[in-house]
Amino acid sequence: MKTESVFHEKVCPKMGSSNRRKYRAIFYSLVRQMVNVLSFLKNSLLKTKVFFLALALARKYRPRTFDDLIGQESVSLSLSHALKNNRLSHAYLFSGLRGSGKTSTARIFAKALLCEKGPTPKPCQECIQCQMANENRHIDIIEMDGGK
Ligand SMILES: [Zn+2]
Repeated sequence: MKTESVFHEKVCPKMGSSNRRKYRAIFYSLVRQMVNVLSFLKNSLLKTKVFFLALALARKYRPRTFDDLIGQESVSLSLSHALKNNRLSHAYLFSGLRGSGKTSTARIFAKALLCEKGPTPKPCQECIQCQMANENRHIDIIEMDGGK
């Protein structure tokens, strides 16, 4: 209690004891609010970390060719034929359940269109366009996440 009285004598000597109690209550509520904010920040940081880990895994294991794409043989076949015979539409709309391969198909298709050896159903994976597409940093492949 000695430090407290020193504090009150030096910092606010004219403050009455009721005011002291009031300011102490305000101070403690501020501390409590700060602790709440800090724990909220900690939780959201953890969530962001998990989100980025999941994103990294999705990028690492995303199929890179139409042959790697599992379960969408009809789609990859018709897109491959369109690429091979140069019969491309001006826009494509992929629809389907979560995890069915819309994004993967679209990314492979974009890469097939941008590859320096193409448009080809089998992107070379070696040219600068394919490398940038595989590393998710191609300037012409923009993924807009509307679900979040
Ligand atoms: Zn290429």
